[in-house]
Amino acid sequence: MTEKNTPAPVSTPAAFAARPLRVAIIGAGPAGVYAADILTKAERDFDLAIDLFDRYPAPYGLIRYGVAPDHPRIKGIVKALHKVLDRGDIRFFGNVDYGTDLTIAELREHYDAVIFATGAINDADLNIPGIELDGSHGGADFVSWYDGHPDVPRSWPLEATQVAVLGNGNVALDVARVLSKHAEDLLVTEIPENVYRGLAESPVTDVHVFGRRGPAQVKFTPLELRELSHSHDVDIVLYPEDFEFDAASDTAIKTNNQVKTMVGTLTNWLIEQEEREERGEAAQGTESGRPRRRLHLHFLHSPVEVTGTDGKVSGIRFERQELDGTGNARGTGELVDYPVQAVYRAIGYFGSALPEIEYDGRTGTVPNLEGKVLDAAGTQVPGLYATGWIKRGPVGLIGHTKSDAAETIAHLLADLNELPVAANPATEAVPALLAAKDVAYTTWDGWLALDAHEQALGAAADPAPTHEGPVARERVKVVDRAEMVAVSRGVDEPAASRG
Ligand code: NAP
Repeated sequence: MTEKNTPAPVSTPAAFAARPLRVAIIGAGPAGVYAADILTKAERDFDLAIDLFDRYPAPYGLIRYGVAPDHPRIKGIVKALHKVLDRGDIRFFGNVDYGTDLTIAELREHYDAVIFATGAINDADLNIPGIELDGSHGGADFVSWYDGHPDVPRSWPLEATQVAVLGNGNVALDVARVLSKHAEDLLVTEIPENVYRGLAESPVTDVHVFGRRGPAQVKFTPLELRELSHSHDVDIVLYPEDFEFDAASDTAIKTNNQVKTMVGTLTNWLIEQEEREERGEAAQGTESGRPRRRLHLHFLHSPVEVTGTDGKVSGIRFERQELDGTGNARGTGELVDYPVQAVYRAIGYFGSALPEIEYDGRTGTVPNLEGKVLDAAGTQVPGLYATGWIKRGPVGLIGHTKSDAAETIAHLLADLNELPVAANPATEAVPALLAAKDVAYTTWDGWLALDAHEQALGAAADPAPTHEGPVARERVKVVDRAEMVAVSRGVDEPAASRG
């Protein structure tokens, strides 16, 4: 944690001179863990007790269930979050659903403040005809599947040979990369068994990614773009007619290094492709005998309709766009069709409503002022706070969540004297309540057991056949919720019955 995220010192409030300030954080993803860490590090002369709850039996939220398995850089973040939770000054309660297993009234009875850090896991809607057809999917749903989310079905329909992925953000690239990679190249990761088996059966040959603006307006990031070229036996295909740059694009290329890098990468790929075509080097097969797959990057295509046959996706129609000088796109009236059998919209995540607190259905967030939760009239609700994507919407990289948490924690600390003091702050009251309700909660020791179990499954599995020879699998994720809970609770068995 950096110095700038350390809140200003606060003086002891009367209520917390004799006992710790008790804070519940709902959501053990990066937002919740960063908030807990920043709060524990605040300069203060009173004690603190933080309980971190998650509806899943394991911690790490979107890192475990949103980051693609072949993104090893993110492991660094897991290590940092692990370190925070392993210190022992923050209690973890997994498999506890806010609103069902713990109500707001119960939280208020036992905690002086509650911070919601529940993130956003659903797909934003795309309202075009045909979006409801069989074979049209949300990208976030697919991410949940390949990341072994316990609450999504174990199988995923992968029957399409040609696929469209809508959107030009990092999620679109994740979805397109996982769809186009040969399944055995993912074995080196923590990929669950059912996902490997599903992907191994996929007959896909062509994955098309469509952005509605130009190459200088993409939302993905340079590393993630370059990573596409690292997939073995997958060719990237670009289209010269999509390389349009307006005045705003030129300015962005000159003033923004990230844009300059990405436009440079895309332009180099296009030049290399044209050189290969001139030399007549059309890709035919692969050294390993695997069929080559293609990942096409299209720009200036705005989706207008998913077309279907017998209720199933059979194509997608776009209106070609042109840039308007400001970096925005406008329709040209020209319609283009692509035959595809599956469509994945990856046009953004969207937060879900939380029971018993206000929700803004327009933005998918909890209404708040810099993290202070507001009621329907726009008045601060004492003792309730929000941080992360449920606070500010699903934008920004994981690191941005730290400054966001610092802002929320600074407000909580400034409000100390006005917090609604918990009537029953006993340390063991909440575990006892959960046990009485037969909630099979998991603990940090339980997670350590599950973590070790998954790593052991990885070590015991057949090695992954990589291009550099066989490599041991780092872990095999356990997907089934009951199995996760059983493995976790086998080590640290509280009084409650198994769930
Ligand atoms: P995003 O970055 O906001 O990208 C959404 C994309 O969807 C944009 O290209 C947007 O185009 C497009 N879009 C929106 N509405 C559309 C419509 N009606 N028709 C066609 N296209 C539409 O969202 P995201 O990809 O879900 O990512 C969310 C955040 O997580 C981002 O900050 C992302 O960087 C981060 N993330 C990072 C990684 C990583 O590996 N580092 C992985 C996953 C996610 P316009 O720009 O024209 O609106």
